[in-house]
Formats: sequence, structure tokens, C-alpha cells
Amino acid sequence: VRILVYVEARNGTLSWDSLGLLRRAAAVGEADAFVCGAGARELAAHAAAQGAARVAVADDTRLDEPLPQPHIDALYSYCQSTRYDAIFFASTVLSADIAGGLAARLEAGVNWDLQDVEDRSGELIGSRLALGDSVLVEAGWTTAIRLASFRPGAFEPDMESAAANHEIVDVDVEISPASMATRRLSFEDGKAATSVSLAKASVIVAGGRGLGTKENLRFVRDLADALHGHPAVSMPLVSAGWAPYAMQVGQTGSVVRPRLYIACGISGQMQHKIGMERSETIVAINTDESAPIFRFCDLAVVADVNEVLPKLTAIVRDRAVAEG
Ligand SMILES: Cc1cc2nc3c(=O)[nH]c(=O)nc-3n(C[C@H](O)[C@H](O)[C@H](O)COP(=O)(O)OP(=O)(O)OC[C@H]3O[C@@H](n4cnc5c(N)ncnc54)[C@H](O)[C@@H]3O)c2cc1C
Repeated sequence: VRILVYVEARNGTLSWDSLGLLRRAAAVGEADAFVCGAGARELAAHAAAQGAARVAVADDTRLDEPLPQPHIDALYSYCQSTRYDAIFFASTVLSADIAGGLAARLEAGVNWDLQDVEDRSGELIGSRLALGDSVLVEAGWTTAIRLASFRPGAFEPDMESAAANHEIVDVDVEISPASMATRRLSFEDGKAATSVSLAKASVIVAGGRGLGTKENLRFVRDLADALHGHPAVSMPLVSAGWAPYAMQVGQTGSVVRPRLYIACGISGQMQHKIGMERSETIVAINTDESAPIFRFCDLAVVADVNEVLPKLTAIVRDRAVAEG
């Protein structure tokens, strides 16, 4: 199976999730990477290190901005010269737009939000959680070209590996003037924590509805800070506008696998669990002894988070000072 992975470049680096996806694709079939934007050529070796046989580089300033139309044109024009069985995207707001637009041009089907994909005797089969994550479904394609987007955190790149046999090819892409008509006026980054940094974090302190108020979320941020980790939240806090979506862990947020996950006032519903159950050590603080999270955590603390968190933060800070 010949697979093309769109490897998203932003601020001079390639996205962690798309490098992880490329590594997976290279294990499933023959994987090529498509990297674009000014300076893309310098990044090509990183894609090659994840197993890309060929890295197609469109080092073109017209592809600098994270706007979908020029990227759709570029990928479409590249796919006219090289035939792929599948085109994969690591899920981001930009890649979702690109995948949708490209699917329409190529008359290809898209499977969204896959967790994994495999080659079963020449047939690509994706897997995806469905019905509130209670079942794992297999998803196939009926179109000749198969497009798919994969959940954040689904795969990890191997940052130790070096580029093996590969070729880097400069490609000229056609971009229509109409596709260049959109301008980006401003950009706001969810500075507190991006889904990408959450996916890579080795310590995460996550707050849930048990915090009671938006102000109490500072206890979570403080402990995360003291532990040099990242703060995160359960979905209701995002829905309530207490925290940006980039901080959400779970089925519709990020999938994380830190060494330490401290869940504060989080009940541990299936949709949250899915995003964090692969953490190495899970500590849960909850007032309710029968909270579902106590059934799968490593350390259960039955207590009020708003009392425990400030004390814990103070201990961690004191120890950091003592240790110099
Ligand atoms: C399609 C779908 C997708 C979803 N996606 C996600 C997702 O990506 N991420 C996600 O998180 N959720 C998701 N959800 C929602 C999910 O089902 C739960 O509703 C949510 O995870 C609950 O968040 P919570 O644990 O913070 O709140 P609750 O379930 O209300 O739990 C709060 C917990 O805090 C405890 N508590 C109360 N006061 C204190 C205190 N003072 N100290 C300590 N503990 C206290 C309570 O005992 C309780 O266990 C999704 C739901 C659906 C239907």
C-alpha cells in the first residue's frame, strides 16, 4: 500500500502527531511524506527519520500560512503526478479542512478520528471508538483513494531514529489565485497548554468539575507549575468556558500518556478515561469513595481537592527549594 502523510509544519518544526503518524504509516505500507511552506526543505530530514521513503517538499512561501485552500491545491496538484492508495492526516483544525477539501477534489472517502490503521491482506482497515467510546469499530473505504485523519496522541514518533534510505524531492505545486485570496489577520494560540504539548507532557495535573469554580483552577495550574508539568481539564470545564479546548483530555480532546497524571475532582467517566488511561501512574483526588476513577487509578486520595492541592503544591515547592 502506498501512503502519503501530510506532515504539518508550523513555526519551523514538524508536528509531533504527524511525525508519529508517519512512523505508523511506514510500518503499515510504503509511506511518503509531504512537507510544505518556506524552509520545508530543512525539515525534510526529520520526516525521513520516521521512515518516509520519499519526502516531497514544496518549499513555497504561498504555503506558509495555516490556510486550507492553498494546501488543498498543493496536495491535489502533487497527487496528480504521483498516485497514492491512501493519504493520512494527523487531526488538527487545519488538516481537517485540508482533508475535507482534498477528498472532494479526489472523490475520495475520508474516515475521521481513527485510532489506528492496518493492512489486512492488501486492504486498509482503520479503527475508531464509537458510541461514546463504548465500542471499537473497524472502518474501511469504498473509494480507490482512502483519506483519513487520526486522533491527537494516537502515535508517537521515534526521535532517536536516523533517516535511512530515502529521497527528498522538490515539487512545484499549482495554486490558483482564488485560493490565495484569503488572508490571515491574526492568530491566537492557546498559550496555557496546547494539545501538542499535552500529548508530549510527562507530568499532567488535570482538574474537573470537583474544583467547583473557575478560580479554583489556579490550584491545578500551581501544582502543574511546581511539578514542571502541564495543566489540563475534563470536558465540562471547557464547555463552561473555564479553560481552552487545547487543555481538554479525553475522547474529544487530547489522548495523553504522561509518566504521572494527577486527576483532581474528576469522576473518571469513560470519555475522560479514554484520553488518559495509558498514563504510567495515575493519582486521583476525589471526595467520593465510589468515584469510577478510583477503580483504575494507582493511588486514590479521598479528600477535597481545594484543600489538598495548595498543601501539595507547598510541599513540592519546599522540597524543590531544599534540593536547590
Ligand atoms: C460524546 C462525548 C464526548 C465526551 N468527551 C469528553 C472528553 O473528551 N473529555 C472529558 O473529560 N469528558 C468528555 N465527555 C464528558 C464525560 O462523559 C463526563 O461528563 C466528564 O468527563 C465529567 O467531567 P468531570 O469528571 O470533571 O465531572 P463530574 O463527572 O461531574 O465529576 C466531578 C467529580 O468531582 C468530585 N468532587 C466534587 N467535589 C469535590 C471536591 N471538593 N474535591 C474532590 N472531588 C470532588 C465528585 O465526586 C465527582 O466524582 C464526553 C461526553 C460525551 C457524551
